[in-house]
Amino acid sequence: MIFVLILSIISIIVLASTTEETITRNYCQLPDAVFADGVSAADFGTTGWNYANAENWEQLVVTCGGSYQSPIDIVTTVANQEPIQPQIHYKNKASDVAYEEANKPYTKEYEGEYSEIEVTDASGLVVRYYAKQFHIHTPSEHTIDGKYFDLEIHFVHQAIQDEEQDCNKVKNSLTVFGLMFTEQAYATDYEVFKPWFDQNVTGEVESFDLNDFFQKMTDTTYYHYNGSLTTLPCSQIVNWIVFYQPLPISTNQLNLFRTAFADSTVFPLKRNNRPIQHLNGRKILKGTALTTGVTEIPDVQSSYAYLLLSTIVMSAFIL
Ligand SMILES: [Zn+2]
Repeated sequence: MIFVLILSIISIIVLASTTEETITRNYCQLPDAVFADGVSAADFGTTGWNYANAENWEQLVVTCGGSYQSPIDIVTTVANQEPIQPQIHYKNKASDVAYEEANKPYTKEYEGEYSEIEVTDASGLVVRYYAKQFHIHTPSEHTIDGKYFDLEIHFVHQAIQDEEQDCNKVKNSLTVFGLMFTEQAYATDYEVFKPWFDQNVTGEVESFDLNDFFQKMTDTTYYHYNGSLTTLPCSQIVNWIVFYQPLPISTNQLNLFRTAFADSTVFPLKRNNRPIQHLNGRKILKGTALTTGVTEIPDVQSSYAYLLLSTIVMSAFIL
């Protein structure tokens, strides 16, 4: 009996250790930057690219002068109805997966081993992505009918490279969701933003689920177009999905972001948003997303939990 119990405990330890293995994720590659003549690298800062010289980025990287650049002004009256109704549902967010603060000098960003998501691009092709990072801009980068919002979050997803998905057939290696935020003086502070500003909180967030933001929306109307990165190297590889309904953000947290971008030599007026780019004939589609928001538990986690439970039950019988 004791032997059976010991065997069970060993098997649990073995299983528990396998769940902690580092997950390797393979992404479809992004194109290399095409630097302008005489420029070999362009880092963020007073001598590189910054928000004071945003009108001249194409003098550093040629792509920034391309005709499919972002952000854009979304004119809602010219958007055509999208023939699909996509779901926003991040799969397999394990409770022990953390999001770590990334040290980017031009934004506030979390990176992590995020969940998988399927996204339909503007041509109707379904592409599988990993949610890779999210970061913020203030004020917003996109405008809707000419209107700026106080803050915009970008959820960046990069296409998955594996046996089932051919990267050569993926037009946009990235899908980025843009979510708008409007100041509401006494809105509840978002827990997920606190590690960026509170020295007493570690730079990791464990309890946050990417589905959370979408569940707060009562209207999931979005606008969809082909565009680019809004920071260097401005690569024109982004399937953009910009949500219409802004979420609230407290005056307190909005001010924390603005204070983070206080260096006026690189952030004029405490802004880290690129100016609006020309649409150049691109089509804008309009749709409504389904946000089921149900996060599945990974198989390995549930089987571990099942084994633990069955071992406890079995041990009770044996002893
Ligand atoms: Zn961004």
